[in-house]
Amino acid sequence: MTMLATRDLKAYYFTRRGFVRAVDGINIEVGEGRVLGIVGESGSGKSTLGMALTALVRPPLRVQGSVLFKGKDIYSLHPEVLRAIRGVGLSLIPQFAMDALNPTARIRDLIKDLVDSHKDSIKLELDDMIKRAQERALQIGLPKWVLDRYPVELSGGMRQRVAILLSTLLNPEVLIADEPTSALDVVIQRLVIQYLQDLFKEGAIKTMIFISHDIATAYQIATDIAVMYAGQIVESGSADKVVHEPLHPYTKGLMSAIVEPGMNIRKVKLEGLTGEPPDLLNPPKGCRFYPRCRYRMDICKEEDPPEVDVGGVKVKCWLYAKREGARP
Ligand code: SF4
Repeated sequence: MTMLATRDLKAYYFTRRGFVRAVDGINIEVGEGRVLGIVGESGSGKSTLGMALTALVRPPLRVQGSVLFKGKDIYSLHPEVLRAIRGVGLSLIPQFAMDALNPTARIRDLIKDLVDSHKDSIKLELDDMIKRAQERALQIGLPKWVLDRYPVELSGGMRQRVAILLSTLLNPEVLIADEPTSALDVVIQRLVIQYLQDLFKEGAIKTMIFISHDIATAYQIATDIAVMYAGQIVESGSADKVVHEPLHPYTKGLMSAIVEPGMNIRKVKLEGLTGEPPDLLNPPKGCRFYPRCRYRMDICKEEDPPEVDVGGVKVKCWLYAKREGARP
């Protein structure tokens, strides 16, 4: 069953200088039991995509296209219905989640607020949720007493894990985790990945989108990977294929940038990534990777490459498209 899908999703920031095409025509489909890793450098539009997928959109950001949660476009739902879905149907661990906690409430009070905000749609007992929070806190290396503290009394790493705890407490069907481990040390990172994997295996979470700048981190948990560059997906397919047989020149560059040993990832030929992502106020006319690509051809500069299927992997690159003039 498809849990979350997008149709030509665009999310642009409208500024005085023009619009920044942070997300520019994304089509994804994530089924039950799948974990989609979305990877790319910082500034590729990943976090904007995470916000657009949960309809957490404020001006100057505007969205076009659709986001289908179990077949229903969340942008067409009544705000009350959408509010009831949040946390239970769709939940986001935002980037810098630790800063999103209300500093004037104890963690226990935040759990009460969460339960109260869903009292009209589902029956949740506060005591049960507190007990669940205490059990899960231990799983991510937090002591039980954390529930009786205010966020300001906790370290940044503890606040980050509390935010993860709250975002997953109601067992959301679809969890979108935006760089959930970025503020954590390596040992705690592994604990958090294990925590999310355990929730997934138990069936507490049915579907996950795991956003990361690091393809090796995403590979630890993802069944599928979509590589995002300059607001577009340039390669997507099974995590094993994308990681072990990368096709797009940008994916190859990301793979060569992995520095951490022991990730069980075979290194591809070192190609490196040079240069910077394009200005999304004024992206290149043809392929957006053209200025940085060592395989670029004349056609790449002029025409946007189509997405083609290469052995089950979708890749947006003229190297794989049958087109006269497209020769390396
Ligand atoms: Fe490189 Fe051309 Fe492929 Fe773009 S379309 S990644 S410039 S070869």
